[in-house]
Amino acid sequence: MAAPVNIIVGSHVWVEDPVLAWIDGEVTRINGQELHVHTTKGKKIVTNVSKVFPKDTEASPGGVDDMTRLSYLHEPGVLQNLATRYELNEIYTYTGNILIAINPFQRLPHLYDTHMMEQYKGAAFGELSPHVFAVADVAYRAMMNEGKNNSILVSGESGAGKTETTKMLMRYLAHLGGRSGVEGRTVEQQVLESNPVLEAFGNAKTVRNNNSSRFGKFVEIQFDKSGRISGAAIRTYLLERSRVCQISDPERNYHCFYLLCAAPPEDREKFKLESPQSYHYLNQSKSFVLEGVSDAHEYLATRRAMEIVGIGEEEQEAIFRVVAAILHLGNVEFAKGKEIDSSVLKDEKSRFHLNVTAELLMCDPKSLEDALIRRVMVTPEEVITRTLDPEAAIGSRDALAKTIYSRLFDWIVEKINSSIGQDPNSKSLIGVLDIYGFESFKHNSFEQFCINFTNEKLQQHFNQHVFKMEQEEYTKEAINWSYIEFVDNQDVLDLIEKVMFPKSTHETFAQKLYQTFPKNKRFIKPKLSRTSFTISHYAGEVTYLADQFLDKNKDYVVAEHQDLLTASKCPFVVGLFPPLPVDSSKSSKFSSIGSRFKLQLQSLMETLSTTEPHYIRCVKPNSVLKPAIFENINIIQQLRCGGVLEAIRISCAGYPTRRTFDEFLLRFGVLYPDVLDGNYDEKVACQMLLDKMGLKGYQIGKTKVFLRAGQMAELDARRAEVL
Ligand code: ADP
Ligand code: MG
Repeated sequence: MAAPVNIIVGSHVWVEDPVLAWIDGEVTRINGQELHVHTTKGKKIVTNVSKVFPKDTEASPGGVDDMTRLSYLHEPGVLQNLATRYELNEIYTYTGNILIAINPFQRLPHLYDTHMMEQYKGAAFGELSPHVFAVADVAYRAMMNEGKNNSILVSGESGAGKTETTKMLMRYLAHLGGRSGVEGRTVEQQVLESNPVLEAFGNAKTVRNNNSSRFGKFVEIQFDKSGRISGAAIRTYLLERSRVCQISDPERNYHCFYLLCAAPPEDREKFKLESPQSYHYLNQSKSFVLEGVSDAHEYLATRRAMEIVGIGEEEQEAIFRVVAAILHLGNVEFAKGKEIDSSVLKDEKSRFHLNVTAELLMCDPKSLEDALIRRVMVTPEEVITRTLDPEAAIGSRDALAKTIYSRLFDWIVEKINSSIGQDPNSKSLIGVLDIYGFESFKHNSFEQFCINFTNEKLQQHFNQHVFKMEQEEYTKEAINWSYIEFVDNQDVLDLIEKVMFPKSTHETFAQKLYQTFPKNKRFIKPKLSRTSFTISHYAGEVTYLADQFLDKNKDYVVAEHQDLLTASKCPFVVGLFPPLPVDSSKSSKFSSIGSRFKLQLQSLMETLSTTEPHYIRCVKPNSVLKPAIFENINIIQQLRCGGVLEAIRISCAGYPTRRTFDEFLLRFGVLYPDVLDGNYDEKVACQMLLDKMGLKGYQIGKTKVFLRAGQMAELDARRAEVL
């Protein structure tokens, strides 16, 4: 962003602050490049002129609802604007076409009621206050008028409000495309009710969000010629599998486990279930209840929602039977067997849970036991049975639990899709993407790697779009934009794709990466670790631990587990594990999660590229999940990760400040009153004013003046001298 100009003693500026990010103050002395600033917090700071930004002393007290209207488009200005608005409960702000949504962490019911939906219906974009409904409305109108597919991409870090925003978008679209007065189950009702079902099985309490989605989701809503919802398709991405058997305090496992333990007694007894405290997969954490949520109530609500999306009574029963089986399975423990490297069930309690698991999955208990502790190897000469030691048996048990759960989740998604149904004659569609934002934790592994890969891809898409929009505006106004540079992140994407398909062992993986990319500037070798590597992402550097990459990337079902479940007497369970084709070659058996994910992502990007995108950036204002707390540094980081600052940068590389001819004359006419009095054409008058002031590099379009970054401040400084 541009260095400030025309700073004089008495100017109001923003200076960097380690705690607040930026504080405002007044320049008290200038000594060459050195500035003395007296901040409004009472501090005296000496800084360099290149480190400050001019403050817009005429900024509107309530902020502006579109950031591109800020006279000074820079980081502190953006932050100040958002903070001012957030304080007034104005949680939505535009940056051009991008909607920034700051999580209010409190219910604002009036903001989303039917009355509000009616107001946004057909209203011109920008006419009413910024809102998710406005974005959905634009997408719907564009679809109807131009017959084009549209998409709304919602992103942000965990707990920022993506899923809530997505639900609001879906509600609004269902409102526009619904059939009023129709009785019974409608497509739009099914689309809406898919949310609580997916949340019950795919959401969990985490440190960051009490209802955190542990999967990505793309919902494609199809519309017919008259704009009615006629079908839908839900695609999900990368459900977090490890959570099924491993959680740490104060997180929880997937909601469905707790819901089932709180089910009415007859349901619990059927599955021989006790309280959540009794199950290893749940009691690794001390967190069992969710504040303000009744699991018993949610259980019934989930079953109702399942009914609406077309999951019948019997199927519901089977689903929860499998959920219960997983809880029992987790309580099966092992002890050392007589032979070396072998194991046996630890005690009677383990035997009990094993039997219940087998009963619920309708498979043979002895086969289940064998599948947990034995492996059969077929060589051309003979069949060898190998036993597993207790640690390996636990690994086998957990792998089975994870496999069953992820198949169950996929089954539910498929079922919802087939029951809502796709409209083969659909005219056009609106896709809504709710996907995890960029992640950078203390320890980052394969999951973060995949997530950040997704975000790099989406970022590329976003930059290209923002850039295109800018160009379109310049073209419309017939101004020259040819020299604006566009920074592409294709190099990181290429790098990641290479990392994603490692053919090596744990020990050599990280080392091999260094050998392969010795000079890649996106790839950094950490000083202290031999088993980690750092990638320089658009949103910052992330260090990944390489040691578990290869294991986590493996995606195959142990043959013994497959055989066990294929032989179940329960058609539902068999349905989760259809027999493999006879010629299941090695390559498909060892397909990696990374390669499958890459294909899914490719297909998502292809779909998105056929749509007109709209972006919503959700921001989490604080990490205590409470209303009215606005943490500056945290928020800046998110604006950076969400590409908002990048969009602003792209815009600053061109002509970030645009004013229509009258607006411009109204503000700066005072500088040369004779120009105003001269009765010239507005455009000519603007040209004369700018000439007299000796500015360079600006452009005059058909209806607007386009100023380079910092020029507005320069003009304001002159104006301040005159006034
Ligand atoms: P994400 O999907 O980004 O992880 P969620 O959408 O689950 O985040 O939001 C986390 C929590 O924040 C919600 O459970 C809700 O309590 C609150 N929240 C988010 N958006 C809103 C909103 N627009 N109004 C009120 N509360 C919200
Ligand atoms: Mg979510």
